[in-house]
Amino acid sequence: MKKQLMTITLGALLVSGLTVPASTPVEAATSYKVKVTTNVLNVRSGPSTSYQKVGSAKLGQTFTYLGATGSWTKINYNGSTKYVSSTYVKKYSSTSLQTATAGKFLIPAKGTLTQGYGPASGKYGYTFHNGIDLAAAKGTTVQSAAYGEVIVARNYGAYGNHVMVTHTVDGQAYTTVYAHLDRLNVVKGQKIAKGGRIGTVGNTGNSYGSHLHFEIHKDKYVYSSSTAANSVNPYTLF
Ligand SMILES: [Zn+2]
Repeated sequence: MKKQLMTITLGALLVSGLTVPASTPVEAATSYKVKVTTNVLNVRSGPSTSYQKVGSAKLGQTFTYLGATGSWTKINYNGSTKYVSSTYVKKYSSTSLQTATAGKFLIPAKGTLTQGYGPASGKYGYTFHNGIDLAAAKGTTVQSAAYGEVIVARNYGAYGNHVMVTHTVDGQAYTTVYAHLDRLNVVKGQKIAKGGRIGTVGNTGNSYGSHLHFEIHKDKYVYSSSTAANSVNPYTLF
């Protein structure tokens, strides 16, 4: 009888010992933001294109990240929970401004994102922009986004002076494209390190102002002026 009483008392002590006083500071969970990386992004009421479009967001706009459902990202949109395609946003830690995902590729030049990946107006001859445009001064260094082999280094067509590099990252083959360069610092057949100098930013080919047009394709390079083809939004891999 006495033993049983002691057990109950000990149990009560343990429970009270576990109670956290209201004044104890609780460390905040890591919070994230997402940044829009396409020109115009549909905001929907649910996590698929079958849900109603309730608004749109512009390139560079940021929102509080609320989670993910499949390939859809939950955001705080004007105070309520809405959904956007994860393909077109980049998740960041809102405290450190560091990228929240492991970077498989480097951002190839320091510059300002002036056109994101995704549907485009058609005024430059394409209705899908299969890469990103980073505006930077002529002569700014362009670096290889990953280790690879240069398969194209020439002046040709709309890309002007451009380089293509093939890579294998985590078992997946990719081809990256660096277009409108001023100078080329590599030749076809050459191996290049991640971060290795490819050339410099320029305004050659079908280009309006000094910028780098950069693409990432899964496997070999496939171009379409109206669909993604096998291109991916580089921001999903940085
Ligand atoms: Zn472009």
